[in-house]
Amino acid sequence: MEKKELLYEGKAKKVYTTDDPALLIVSYKDDATAFNGLKKGTISGKGAINNQMSDLLMERLEKAGIATHYVQMLSDRDTLVKRVQIVPLEVIVRNIAAGSFSKRYGVEEGRVLPSPTLELSYKNDELGDPLLNHYHALALGLCTQEELAVIERYAFAVNDFLKNFWQECGVTLVDFKLEFGRLADGTIVLADEISPDTCRLWDSATGEKLDKDRFRRDLGGTEDAYAEVMRRLRSHD
Ligand code: UDP
Repeated sequence: MEKKELLYEGKAKKVYTTDDPALLIVSYKDDATAFNGLKKGTISGKGAINNQMSDLLMERLEKAGIATHYVQMLSDRDTLVKRVQIVPLEVIVRNIAAGSFSKRYGVEEGRVLPSPTLELSYKNDELGDPLLNHYHALALGLCTQEELAVIERYAFAVNDFLKNFWQECGVTLVDFKLEFGRLADGTIVLADEISPDTCRLWDSATGEKLDKDRFRRDLGGTEDAYAEVMRRLRSHD
């Protein structure tokens, strides 16, 4: 399968059409942004790592019964995926307080939550991805009640799977963001990516951050952290 036309270029990925209208090619870049595009940079090797990590995890999730957009890895940076219409929601699951949750609710970073929590943001860069609840999502026509139910069930199932998987790699899954899409027949599938760009991952032994917070907070060693998390993932089996 070959790239035909550039359909869309986002902050970290390019999306191309193919000869099959139901399939697209996603190409991962080394570009990184944070704070709604205010901070820009490159994380060398990130594109290849995120592509391979996301594919490996989605493949596992499929086997665990969660429908995803993943079809096939084409190269280091490129993956064939099912064409979806993205549901404009960022679905965030948290096991441990960090980032905007800590700030908004005044909870110290690192506090283990009594049970995982889920929050929704409206995926809209101009508005700065505002937090919203079910009623807002329905009032804005972003999705249906039935779709929300599937999305939330999937999100917690992904958390159960990933938490356990990362634990076996000596990595603590703090929180992560998911996006879902609709296939042509309306079926909801997990889309976008699962990578250190979209998850907070801490070394279980040392607490060291192994994710995009190294870039966001200028901690240094970002490339090494991404490579380390990929190494742990590969040595899982
Ligand atoms: N996240 C993401 N994209 C976004 C916002 C958040 O991938 O646009 C991820 C982020 O990497 C973290 C989780 O979602 O793993 C929760 O992020 P949070 O709401 O704490 O926002 P942040 O502190 O990153 O602004």
